[in-house]
Amino acid sequence: MHEYALADAVIAAVRKTAADERLARVLRVEVRVGALQSIDEHTFARALDTVRPPDDARFAAVEFALSLVPVRCRCRPCGAEYGPEVGAEADAHGAEAIHFVPELAHSYLRCPRCQSPDFDILEGRGVTIGRIEGERDE
Ligand SMILES: [Zn+2]
Repeated sequence: MHEYALADAVIAAVRKTAADERLARVLRVEVRVGALQSIDEHTFARALDTVRPPDDARFAAVEFALSLVPVRCRCRPCGAEYGPEVGAEADAHGAEAIHFVPELAHSYLRCPRCQSPDFDILEGRGVTIGRIEGERDE
């Protein structure tokens, strides 16, 4: 039920923004899901639909646009940036979920430049909200 907890958090954040921006209607919300978050996109999309506040007219027509953020790493010793897809056939859609835990990643990821296994994860963690599109009543 991980997806439902995340969906709740997204809805709460969007409601807050809608209130702050005094939006009368929220039309589209971009949600960026890090590949390391290892959630099921379809379950998450359904969860967002399920937890949207039914009594809140602002959300009647909202559409959630999910996108997957690929993992990006930066080598600590040499600063090279790379992703786990390095050396593998690039996925045509760029959206192939890579499900691994960061601790495991350190045992098989190597910098393509200097072969160091020491890296920071720049992107691909967590769930973030991108653009929120809505309308105000003027
Ligand atoms: Zn390196």
